[in-house]
Amino acid sequence: MIVMKFGGTSVESAEAIERVAKIVGSRRKQSPVVVVSAMAKVTDQLVAMGHKAASGACEASLEMLTALRERHLQTAIELLGAKRGASLAPRLEAFFSELNNFLRGLAAVRELTPRGSDYLLSFGELLSSLIVADAFAIRGLNAAWVDSRECLVTDATHTRALPKMAETRERCRKKIVPIVSKKRIAVMGGFIAATVEGVPTTLGRGGSDYSAAIIGAALRAERIEIWTDVEGMMTTDPRLCPDARTIKRISFNEAAELAYFGAKVLHPATLLPAIHQNIPVYVLNSRNLKSTGTEITAQAPRSRDVFRAITAKTGVSIVNVVASRGVMVHGFLRSVFEALDRHASSVDIVAISEVSLSFTMETKRLPKTLLAEFEEIADVTSEDRQAIICLVGEDIHGKPGIAASVFNTIAEAGVNIRMISQGASEINISFVVKESDVPRAVQHLHAHFFPRTSAPSLHRTGRQGRGTPLKKNGLAHRYQGNGVGAAKRARSTAPEKTAAKRSAEERSAQTDL
Ligand code: ADP
Ligand code: ASP
Ligand code: MG
Repeated sequence: MIVMKFGGTSVESAEAIERVAKIVGSRRKQSPVVVVSAMAKVTDQLVAMGHKAASGACEASLEMLTALRERHLQTAIELLGAKRGASLAPRLEAFFSELNNFLRGLAAVRELTPRGSDYLLSFGELLSSLIVADAFAIRGLNAAWVDSRECLVTDATHTRALPKMAETRERCRKKIVPIVSKKRIAVMGGFIAATVEGVPTTLGRGGSDYSAAIIGAALRAERIEIWTDVEGMMTTDPRLCPDARTIKRISFNEAAELAYFGAKVLHPATLLPAIHQNIPVYVLNSRNLKSTGTEITAQAPRSRDVFRAITAKTGVSIVNVVASRGVMVHGFLRSVFEALDRHASSVDIVAISEVSLSFTMETKRLPKTLLAEFEEIADVTSEDRQAIICLVGEDIHGKPGIAASVFNTIAEAGVNIRMISQGASEINISFVVKESDVPRAVQHLHAHFFPRTSAPSLHRTGRQGRGTPLKKNGLAHRYQGNGVGAAKRARSTAPEKTAAKRSAEERSAQTDL
């Protein structure tokens, strides 16, 4: 059994879904379970509709709903023909009518809660998966639509729920295995799930990748394929740097690090379930039926480049917390970390002295109440519109001159660095720059470390094939979703973190996977 996930652009139109049917048909013998995202831009549109309705602009939100309805009905007719399209229409219409009622309700109460948002966004994947399942069936693929909300069980952390693996495994076996054993192709929406009580949840934006991996782990799939709009994981975001190249093979640890630090091609948590079950993950291009893409496995052969790839994570804030005069220095850091823990706040990069602490956090996750708490014991400043640039490579550890080479390149680009970190996983160098400096910095770094000619800087010699054992202290273990203490997730710059502590974290991270 394999799991194949198709992203928004891969199901954006009748033509795209046609290609998906061909790709899935070519894997028929491998018993595929197919996971699809909402059609491209639909989730953004649902978000916009929700905000419009909640601000009282009900008519404007219903106009958007009309456009959404037309797009889906039109796609269904193009794929299925008028007759079969008409027979699917009532199922689609039932969803549009639910959406219509919901938007009117939002306009009345003027509030979109996280729980309401999950309900609203779930329609994108419900609609696309129904259409794709029927499109498969009419093309001779024996497809069966599966309601993901009945298979993926999560906690109730709405908008970024965490899977409950034991329940999910049981449900997947009950709902999906019988379909697969009848040689049918299960088709289901990614991103959406439900609590044990059946309340819809979502796994966070971009979460269909994560759904595919969760399902793959639950069913112990042979492989998980993530089909998208680029030729695999690349040396950097091709939108930032057209010279980006496809990475043929990469390790779980490196790919997880890249995903966490902004490589949008994979949801940050995607590799966790795959790592735990040691299931290879492939990132492939749905516009290229012969795509070989990127293979992500526990070990990957050594690359001839110094780094495997460069990423940038935007939408980051720097927070500086400096102990107020008169505040006891003793216990200051503990108070700061305890406050982070109470707010279940996840920090990325940390720099510490005995009387000050600077850290970065996603701006959208920075609670105002946290800053207010800090202000009771410290002078606090924060700056938005920052970005973390991260260079990842398993072989950088212990190699002299690499950091100097990175920072010289950044200096040549005329970019100012705000914070620096070399993580505990020893496979990345990350630093913070202004968001507006990201394109220039990444392009310079990419030109330097991935030159078009065959001689990369800091050229390495040595054996081929590292055979490095899978390290579990890498980034995968830092992505623990919500509710886990920030101190736990703080990076290596927190000096008090011991190997024993880390391994305890590992155990706790593993319990639910
Ligand atoms: P999907 O809708 O298939 O889930 P996404 O838009 O979420 O696709 O992810 C694919 C996009 O990720 C690509 O179009 C690319 O611009 C972006 N991306 C960012 N970093 C990388 C990277 N290192 N390798 C490949 N793609 C990347
Ligand atoms: N449709 C969801 C989103 O746009 C999930 C996904 O595409 O993976 O975030
Ligand atoms: Mg995606």
